Amino acid sequence: MALTLHILTGPMYSSKSSRLLSILNSHSALLKRTIKPSVDTRAPGLIKSRTGSQHRADFSVQSLSSVPLPSASTPSTLYAIDEVQFFEDLLTFHDDFFNKARQVGGSHTLLLAGLDLDFNRRPFGKLLELATRSIIHSEVTRSNVDVVGTADTVIVERLSARCSFITTTSRGGERCNAPALFSQRIAGGDSLVLIEGEGEGRYAPYCHRHHQVI
Ligand SMILES: [Zn+2]
Repeated sequence: MALTLHILTGPMYSSKSSRLLSILNSHSALLKRTIKPSVDTRAPGLIKSRTGSQHRADFSVQSLSSVPLPSASTPSTLYAIDEVQFFEDLLTFHDDFFNKARQVGGSHTLLLAGLDLDFNRRPFGKLLELATRSIIHSEVTRSNVDVVGTADTVIVERLSARCSFITTTSRGGERCNAPALFSQRIAGGDSLVLIEGEGEGRYAPYCHRHHQVI
């Protein structure tokens, strides 16, 4: 039995969806389920990366409670969820997923991609909370205490983009290009809704030197 939680996070433009799709395509699970929030209306029915790769979304939903959990008839599953910052019930789904997976046996992976922070470096959605909790639980698991509702293996990948801040030099404008860990809001509205792609021109990836809380 192998229960794995794999988290892909980072700022906008850090290729989270692209990495999710590449893991999805190469994974050997017998049943793969793809899930995205219905609030993301850029590409209906699809999980789509900025680089152009895409995969159909089996579930385009407002809440994860409508996604069926692993069952005894599906001993090897991969659930891939994109834009997880929009799912309020992420923690509940995570717990239910691993409880059920442990019950039915087999090999089950929950692969999550989403923003960890909003443009003001505040935790966005439940992903950071989930990562922290899962890591602490997995420490307990390693000491041979059987912990339900959590994975045996937890992988957290924090991806970065390239800082797009332009510095004016004597030769003209020069792009910073340092690893960018944050999303900078550069124009428009007070909305907290950061949907990758939809924010084109309104958000940019900035490094820790150039990112400003506004
Ligand atoms: Zn920079």
